[in-house]
This record gives sequence, C-alpha cells and structure tokens, in this order.
Amino acid sequence: MIPILDSKRQYAQIGAEVEKAVCEVLRSGSYILGPNCKALESELAKYIGCNYTVTLNSGTDALHLALRALDIGAGDEVITTAFTFVATTEAIGIVGAHPVFADIDPNTFNIDPAKIEAAITPRTKAIIPVHLYGQPCDMDAIMDIAKRHNLYVIEDCCQAIGAKYKGQMVGTFGDIGCFSFYPTKNLGGMGDGGLISVNSEELKNRIIALRNHGGAVRYYHDEIGVNSRLDEIQAAILRIKLNYIDEWNCARRDHAKTYNELFAGCSDIQTPSELADTYCVYHQYTLKIPNRDNIHKMLQEAGIGAMLYYPVPLHLQKVHSHLGFTKGMLPVTEKNTELVISLPMFPELTREEQETVASTLISCIEKSKSATAV
Ligand SMILES: *Cc1c(COP(=O)(O)O)cnc(C)c1O
Repeated sequence: MIPILDSKRQYAQIGAEVEKAVCEVLRSGSYILGPNCKALESELAKYIGCNYTVTLNSGTDALHLALRALDIGAGDEVITTAFTFVATTEAIGIVGAHPVFADIDPNTFNIDPAKIEAAITPRTKAIIPVHLYGQPCDMDAIMDIAKRHNLYVIEDCCQAIGAKYKGQMVGTFGDIGCFSFYPTKNLGGMGDGGLISVNSEELKNRIIALRNHGGAVRYYHDEIGVNSRLDEIQAAILRIKLNYIDEWNCARRDHAKTYNELFAGCSDIQTPSELADTYCVYHQYTLKIPNRDNIHKMLQEAGIGAMLYYPVPLHLQKVHSHLGFTKGMLPVTEKNTELVISLPMFPELTREEQETVASTLISCIEKSKSATAV
C-alpha cells in the first residue's frame, strides 16, 4: 500500500520538536493570538516576501476575508477557475458575489489569461487565480489584465506556498494572497489554519479586525466580522515546520523529476508541464491518462493511493447551478477533469515506492488497453 500522502512519516522527523513546542504552549496559558501567532506572522511575511501576513482559521477564511477587505459583495462578479477546490468559489458566494468562470490552460491546469478578458463585465471586481497543484499561474498576463481593467487580484496560494513565478513568491503579485495550513498542504498544521499575505497596511488592519469580530479594539465593533483566529498550538507547530518547507518542497520537486523520468517514453501518459521561469512546488503530481476512471480503480485495487482532483468541475456543481453555466461552456476544464489523476506525492516518498507506483500505473494502462481491444 502506497498512500497518496503519509503524514506520519513527517511526524517521525519532527515529532520531538513539535511535542516540546506544544507542551510549552500548554504550560504558557496563552492559547489564542499569542506570541507564536505574532512570530509566525512576521516569519511568514519574511518568507513570502510581503509587508504583512495575518494568521486565520483556514484558507477558506483567508479567501472570504480577502474579499470582505476589498469590499467585494452582493452583485459583484469575481473571475476565477472552475478547475479548483470548492473553497475558492464558496468564499465568493459567502460574501454574496458571483463567481464567473474562465476556462483553463490544458498544460498548466491554471486559469487561461486569454479567456479572462471575455468574462469581464461592468460588475467584475476581481480575479482569483489559483496556483493549482503548486504550479504558479501566468501572473504577468493576469496582472496586466487586472491593471488595464482596474480589477483586484486575490491569489489562491493554498496549494502553492513557496512556489515562485519569475523568481518571486506567489502571494506577492496581487492585492492579497491566501494560504491554507490544512494538514495535507505543503505547509500543513495539525488542525485547520490559514493566512493572508498583503502589502497594504490598511488592508492588513481591516483583516485583523475582520478576523476578530470586526473591531480593532476589544469590545468595540465597527462591522460584522467573524471568529477566524489561529490558535497558539497550531502557530507553534507551523513555526517549526516553516524551517523545513524549502527542504520539503525541494524533495517534492525531485520526486516530480523522478516520476517524469519513470514515465518518459510512455506515450499514453502526459506528465505535468511547467510554465517557463517558474518554481513549482508539486502539492500534487498530476498526470493525464486515457481511460482514467478504469485505471483509477485498478490502481486502488493494487494499493496505490491515486486521487482525482477534482472529479466535478465547479461550474457543474449543484451549489453553483443557478449561475447559468452548463456542460460544454468550459470545454478545456471539462475535458481535463476526465483525464487527470494525482499520484502519491509527499517529501518522504522513496525512490522504490515511486518505481512501484510507476510500474503499476504503466501495467494498468497496458491491461486496460488490451481489455478495450478485445
Ligand atoms: C485547501 C484549499 C483551500 C481551502 O483551504 P482550507 O484551509 O481547507 O479552508 C482553498 N483553495 C484551494 C485551492 C485549496 O487547495
């Protein structure tokens, strides 16, 4: 059995450090918005290369509060991709705005800048590019469109902490960057957590107020906010993990290279392609294969933890059915939804396991081909 992700192996590496830090928090008596949160915020601002970060409860809240801070709400439109996790559009819905979907680039799976302009209307307020699977979007093109049309850009970096576009970290291009510390993410906590990156002091202060019931001063409330604070235990754990993130992202990149080599010459498999001059952090290693559903089943039976991210594109989800998007309207998204499969990917994955995954997948494809030939 080779799982898609094995969190226990990472714990074996850092467990002693984590347990010590957690015990310190437990003894300290300070559990919410304490010194670890503050330190994590400045350490992450330094790491990402932005003026400020604000810790939050989740990546979903990061997106939600980013929209709130930019005063995006009822009747507004936000252009994004349907090839992502639902939280991206859920946040748009939470503030009363509508997602408008632009199709993706079939090579990067990210929003296709060439499709954005046609989706702009007088009600468009923002673009949310999602750096899916750890692959940066084409930020030059997206920022150019945003500038010309006076739109905000909120980067969904939940799968891409540490990824770079032309040497610059994701989360520093748009007005606000949104990160998740969900346990499976490249920098994952041991519970929920999230973060925004921002350069504007005004936006930073607004988000600090929004995360704590809409007021900067305790018991004085200026607007409706939420409770979206990160706890000290998570912050302490994340501070430890932050020391390893570059090493772990490097390992993911090495594994991606190894998979690419193992699949080279297998014409039925399309390995991931990277946009020029980007540093991809391989939150997922995602292939395109024919007969995907069948092969997915065969892999599961063979004990390989392959997953489909995501089985249904967002424009065809029931939650968004009122938006008027129907099958056929995002052909590249729809086509790729049927082809993609993500393989085991985590820093501690071994060469031997990768070889097993690759040989199993190749033999599954051969078997499924001979089955269809009969
Ligand atoms: C994980 C994820 C989110 C949401 O993050 P949570 O911390 O789980 O709320 C949003 N967008 C994308 C692309 C994600 O992968």
